[in-house]
Amino acid sequence: MNSIKTKLLLILLPFLLLNCTEQNKTSQIPSSENNSRIVFPEHTKFCKHVINSIPGKVKMSKRKEYIVYYSGESYTEQNLEYLLSIADSAVQRVKDVLNIDDYSKGFYLIMLDSRDEMEQAIGERYKGLASGNNNLGIFVFNQEIRPYFKHELFHLFAFNVWGEPASRLLDEGGAMYSDNECLYYKDPISTINKYLYAQGKWFDLDILINNFNSAASENDLIAYLESAFIFRFLFEKFGMEKIKKLWVGGFQQFEEIYGFSIPQLNSYISKEMKNIENQEVNWEELMNKGCG
Ligand SMILES: [Zn+2]
Repeated sequence: MNSIKTKLLLILLPFLLLNCTEQNKTSQIPSSENNSRIVFPEHTKFCKHVINSIPGKVKMSKRKEYIVYYSGESYTEQNLEYLLSIADSAVQRVKDVLNIDDYSKGFYLIMLDSRDEMEQAIGERYKGLASGNNNLGIFVFNQEIRPYFKHELFHLFAFNVWGEPASRLLDEGGAMYSDNECLYYKDPISTINKYLYAQGKWFDLDILINNFNSAASENDLIAYLESAFIFRFLFEKFGMEKIKKLWVGGFQQFEEIYGFSIPQLNSYISKEMKNIENQEVNWEELMNKGCG
């Protein structure tokens, strides 16, 4: 959660037979030969740099729509089948959210074992990040940290399909909405937000809209979860076309797009909250672990 870098994005997919091959540390550009319409863009400099930072022997697994890079001595290597299955599901989930039938640009997933390795690769201790410009997602995966595929793939796909987001609230809200997982909570976007709201821990909507970064630096977990609630409300009640316009135009066009004001949105959200049942939330644990 304290994870994501603003203008980065990523992807995943698939079902085809998995080829595992090893390669040297100079990254090679996979050709798009046998994959009908999926074109794998050339590795960017940044992509090569991150692949080269993978410790030990670098392996790759090619799927239909993405290629995973990881170390031969990594947690990913030991759990490869599981990893690919959740990556495939994540791709499907994000395609479902964005209603994408066809995504023809191949992308790259780089798996690291720890936040230390992430720091070595990119200079930040994120759990995951995505870069739309590099068609790339980078993830930590180990016993304690699950790869945030759905979250980061939302960033990657939405960037490529909807364009550059005008609002971080929507970008992170959509990513959290797509992920929809947080520790062991069922329907975490409802349950945890209800708790936060009732405890007066929510940020003012105006702050989240106009100054997302300062809210996130104060408490990223709250800023992200609250954004997911707002994204879900707008998306599920008013549909995809409107949210796409908001994505591009930003909240200054909110009233024009939705036909009601931000204060009205606030009061709709309060009403929505009243319909959600109170459930126990272990806040201390959440603050310690984030969404797992
Ligand atoms: Zn994010």
